[in-house]
Amino acid sequence: MSIVVKKWNELAEVKAELAARDWFFATSGNLSIKVTDDPLTFLVTASGKDKRKQTDEDFLLVDAAGRPAEKTHLKPSAETLLHVEIYNRTNAGCVLHVHTVDNNLISELYAQNGEAVFSGQEIIKAFGIWEENAAVRIPIIDNYADIPTLAREFANYIHGDAGAVLIQNHGITVWGRTAFEAKKHLEAWEFLFRWQVKRLLLQRAGLPVG
Ligand SMILES: [Zn+2]
Repeated sequence: MSIVVKKWNELAEVKAELAARDWFFATSGNLSIKVTDDPLTFLVTASGKDKRKQTDEDFLLVDAAGRPAEKTHLKPSAETLLHVEIYNRTNAGCVLHVHTVDNNLISELYAQNGEAVFSGQEIIKAFGIWEENAAVRIPIIDNYADIPTLAREFANYIHGDAGAVLIQNHGITVWGRTAFEAKKHLEAWEFLFRWQVKRLLLQRAGLPVG
């Protein structure tokens, strides 16, 4: 099996799992997986597809600048430039981006702080952090309609081979060394977002939470 087919199958599996979680509203979201390092190539979701469906046109191979690496009628996702920034700056192997109601709410609630911080949660171990009462933080950046501008702003928050950034009222982008790590981190963040939104609602209702 060629490396491209192997990576295609790996990304298709992640896509199916995220689709089962209903994280691809209205064709939103984009995913990628690195195929080769030298030259850098990666598979990225094609633009405008319903990501709940599985087809042989779901992904296309692109180069280090996010341009198609082979002749194709498919267009890479509009936000491929964010993936380009990650692969060019880190050893990440996979990038996942989804728009969910909870990640949008958290991005709006904590926008003025420039980050959202979570602590006192067992799921923080998913990030490889084992200390008791550990805190995790995720930066929140402004959403720019102009993708090159968004990608430039986003690049300021790319530190390390695994990480995550929230884009205000837009979505989360998570990257990891492997598809498994990126998916695990994405699930942990979405757990924290949903937990926090529900806690705030319960607190508001006067229930003894937090
Ligand atoms: Zn998006």
